[in-house]
Amino acid sequence: MSYEVLHFINGEEVPSSGSARQEIFNPATGDVLGSLHLGSQDELEKAVAAAKTAAKGWSELSLAKRTAVLFRFRELLVERTGELAELVVSEHGKVLSDARGEIARGQEIVEYACGITNLVSGRFTPQAATGIDAYSVREPLGVVAGITPFNFPVMIQLWMAPLGIAAGNAFILKPSERDPSAANFMAKLWKEAGLPDGVFNVLHGGKETVDGLLTHPDVDGISFVGSTPIARYVHETGTKHGKRVQALGGAKNHALIMPDADMDVVAEHLNAAAFGAAGQRCMAISVAVAVGEAAEKTIEKVTALARNIKVSNGMDKDADMGPLITPQSCERVQRIITEAEKAGATVVIDGRNLVVPGHEKGNFVGPTILDNVSPEMSAYGEEIFGPVLVVIRVDTLQEGIDLINSNPFGNGTCIFTSSGAAARTFSRKIKVGMVGVNVPLPVPLANHSFGGWNDSLFGEHHIYGEDGLRFYTRGKAITQRWPEPKQASGANFNFESRN
Ligand code: NAD
Repeated sequence: MSYEVLHFINGEEVPSSGSARQEIFNPATGDVLGSLHLGSQDELEKAVAAAKTAAKGWSELSLAKRTAVLFRFRELLVERTGELAELVVSEHGKVLSDARGEIARGQEIVEYACGITNLVSGRFTPQAATGIDAYSVREPLGVVAGITPFNFPVMIQLWMAPLGIAAGNAFILKPSERDPSAANFMAKLWKEAGLPDGVFNVLHGGKETVDGLLTHPDVDGISFVGSTPIARYVHETGTKHGKRVQALGGAKNHALIMPDADMDVVAEHLNAAAFGAAGQRCMAISVAVAVGEAAEKTIEKVTALARNIKVSNGMDKDADMGPLITPQSCERVQRIITEAEKAGATVVIDGRNLVVPGHEKGNFVGPTILDNVSPEMSAYGEEIFGPVLVVIRVDTLQEGIDLINSNPFGNGTCIFTSSGAAARTFSRKIKVGMVGVNVPLPVPLANHSFGGWNDSLFGEHHIYGEDGLRFYTRGKAITQRWPEPKQASGANFNFESRN
């Protein structure tokens, strides 16, 4: 049964006043599931106005009342995980257990935001000068918008909204057009949790809607997660219009494998990190940098595991990996594999032209391993965002570090080794935001912050954790004197000299 996805503004679903619509597909079957209403200027104005009004009341509410909403939201998220996960699988394609996993990771940020009373507490300095106390507080920005990618339709909005809302802001979510339903599902959960109307809104659309948010005078902050070219554009445009912007971009994550690593551990983890979610994770490992004799063993063992990956509809109980998001992604990934092959790479396992029985119209590419890749090939230069593991051979740890540091991205990386010295050298010298030691997907916990370096993040703040709270608030320093009635307050014409 086909459905329509409307906007969610000021506590209710509203259709677009314009006629622009976009089809929503099931990537495993190619079936059209429904139709998405794309926002016009009218809905943009309504959403911003609703958020602006709501932000005033919400920020005045006590921390206890705000926290109660967050706790209730967390409970609802737990209760409704199964339903939400199935919705994610139907529009995104990832396997059901992975969809449940993304909800669990997002839930961690909700739990962190439940501690807002502690997180937002300021500093107080009594008797900063005679009879004068000084204190610093952090106050909400007002209206903040979150623009999110397709690959984690639940988790990434939860990187943003819980902390933004807990800090006293109103939030407008502009989700990906490819899997938009999770946004409305979450809006209804927020409402059911007792969040006042207008504090969480969903505005659907593409570039025009994003541009509207980036330039609207009543939007104070923008959190963006997506590809690097758009992240750069969002950062440039938003800051030019006086907004605070954090924009997380794409990635090319390398795993460096030392010959002394436990090769069974390496194979198991590389297999999961490269091919999980069909490689459509910003922290997916897409390059294995094998040092010396590590190459042969790595390839042999990962290949053996990758051959047993079951590629199917994400709803199949025994599926390990689902489809890619669109037919265009499929074509792109297969084109890059072919280019690498023509340029001299060895295709160790070939996922091209995979047909899953019963799903002939699905966007499937199987696990692919490319050996003998050189840095000039598009398989190394481009973010593939598909189930392709590229192997580059180097002779030394230093050569591997230099290769990784010369890559324009700097999101995540890891080293596999049994040497503490190698791990320490790698961790200290590598120019990447998130580093794993024998941990291939080093996604920080909620109380740390998530963010890459170089072309993987534009702006000063990482997302969630301490940085997230700083992003969604601004500092105010208050200096106060309360003289007794008629007591001389000692006004000075000049700054007082101390020396
Ligand atoms: P995308 O950049 O195509 O889209 C992200 C958002 O930007 C969507 O909401 C989309 O509607 C909007 N958008 C697209 N084109 C636009 C334009 N021209 N102007 C303004 N807005 C536009 O990304 P995607 O394909 O949805 O997601 C995959 C990308 O996201 C990958 O590059 C991946 O590495 C990256 N990603 C990064 C992180 C991270 O934490 N760094 C996390 C997840 C995904």
